[in-house]
Amino acid sequence: MLKVLKFGGTSVGTLERIQNVAKIIKDIRDDGHDVVAVVSAMSGETNKLIEYANTFSKNPCEREMDMLLSSGERVTSALLSIALNEDGYATTSMSGREAGIKTTSEHTEARIEEIDTTNMKNAINNGKIIIVAGFQGVSLDNARITTLGRGGSDLSAVAIAGALKADICEIYTDVDGIYTTDPRIEPKAKKLEKISYEEMLELASLGAKVLQNRSVEMAKKLNVNLVSRSSFTPEVEGTLITQEENIMEAPVVSGIALDKNQVRVGMYKVADKPGIAASIFQSLADSNINVDMIVQTVAVDGKADLDFTIPTGDLDKTKKVMDTFMNDVENIDYNEAVCKVSIVGVGMKSHTGVASKAFSSMASENINIRIISTSEIKISMIIEEKYAELAVRALHDAYELDK
Ligand code: ADP
Ligand code: ASP
Ligand code: MG
Repeated sequence: MLKVLKFGGTSVGTLERIQNVAKIIKDIRDDGHDVVAVVSAMSGETNKLIEYANTFSKNPCEREMDMLLSSGERVTSALLSIALNEDGYATTSMSGREAGIKTTSEHTEARIEEIDTTNMKNAINNGKIIIVAGFQGVSLDNARITTLGRGGSDLSAVAIAGALKADICEIYTDVDGIYTTDPRIEPKAKKLEKISYEEMLELASLGAKVLQNRSVEMAKKLNVNLVSRSSFTPEVEGTLITQEENIMEAPVVSGIALDKNQVRVGMYKVADKPGIAASIFQSLADSNINVDMIVQTVAVDGKADLDFTIPTGDLDKTKKVMDTFMNDVENIDYNEAVCKVSIVGVGMKSHTGVASKAFSSMASENINIRIISTSEIKISMIIEEKYAELAVRALHDAYELDK
């Protein structure tokens, strides 16, 4: 079998942990498998590099940021390769460029366009274990180093697994699979044996950072057999992320996600003229701001209050755009002390009463819901951030996810 393995930041967080990863790879190799391992930077390293850059500039050039941030993954790939070599295993480390990962030139958020597998296939045919630096590629336009967005090593691994038609892509992290909610928040969370791509994509997009959302999207598209498991307990089987039809009986609700990186923008007494909402949201879109939930309430005087949410990282850009609408509103405020809790499950499509249960569970904890949005397989609520963990646990109880 050809196995693509990915080891996240905590899994390679110390030299000892890198040795531990080497051991996992050796065991898999000794079982007769071909191995491509994709590694993250040591935990905390990417954040540290961002802080370094920010001491010189609040708005550093994104091309330089990619040069800087991609270094973390190169360190771990080389160290892991050296450790395996020392134990007599033939290895080669590869940067994203050497692994043939070709991307767009949207620096810090590049998208993978194609993978030229020549180098990787040659190395595998020569009996080598490949250790790829995750999170990076090379721009097709300008041949510069690019990075794939935070958590992007998951995407590197899935894309490589797809391109090499690997039998399996195992994402090793610090939890032994996908749980009904973040086990750090709710210790009663239950591990799922399987979860559908659709549900995993929703959970990841709504804040469960155990898998990067784009990696799940790609796994679904390329039909990659994706497994989430732990490098701390590699003997424990993880969770399989798979097609919905492979799951015999889907529960109504599969999981709860929490996203604290949310800001609620309130616009009060927006001028009563046609097209105003259109021009506000057009301007936000033109600035690449990711507006999520929107509600409008019209008061008796015909003026409207408009509430919407954005990711915390877009706050400065949003304020700049909003400043241009100051003459059309009475007041604008920004509330960073909010969070989004979401309930995800494909079973919602065919069951009623799922939403009302969420609302009454919030009510019984005296938690005020500020904004609600729903789709076929999810319900999201904006609440005060101080209630985040309480809300997650209350919802987990309400849907009996610990059973
Ligand atoms: P890595 O550094 O290996 O990429 P991450 O920190 O990105 O790991 O993701 C792993 C973390 O995701 C876990 O430590 C856990 O706290 C968190 N997490 C959030 N939601 C879930 C969930 N539903 N199931 C498992 N882990 C989750
Ligand atoms: N090191 C990068 C990050 O922290 C990529 C990754 O770990 O997947 O976002
Ligand atoms: Mg991650």
